[in-house]
Amino acid sequence: MEQAAGVEGGALEVWIDQDLCTGDGICAQYAPEVFELDIDGLAYVKSGEDELLQAKGATTPVPLPLLTDVVDSAKECPGDCIHVRRVSDKVEVYGPDAE
Ligand code: SF4
Repeated sequence: MEQAAGVEGGALEVWIDQDLCTGDGICAQYAPEVFELDIDGLAYVKSGEDELLQAKGATTPVPLPLLTDVVDSAKECPGDCIHVRRVSDKVEVYGPDAE
């Protein structure tokens, strides 16, 4: 199993709010291991087994080697709809709801 990324040691997970996704595909360019556009034109996170997770609010762990790519995706996302949060307390650390 891949090591999950962390801030101060805490594992992180990421989810996408498809209601705000513009479908530009920036996230899938930055981190294709984590994000993918579906045929509906919207981006979804993928499981560690490369399976598209289409349930609303579905999360996937952020692998440590991909943390920078995932954070850059959240920063550049035109829809402001990529949310990166701590697994332990669900506090958003990167994304529109981060402090
Ligand atoms: S970068 Fe944001 S708006 Fe663009 S496809 Fe990814 S989730 Fe959607």
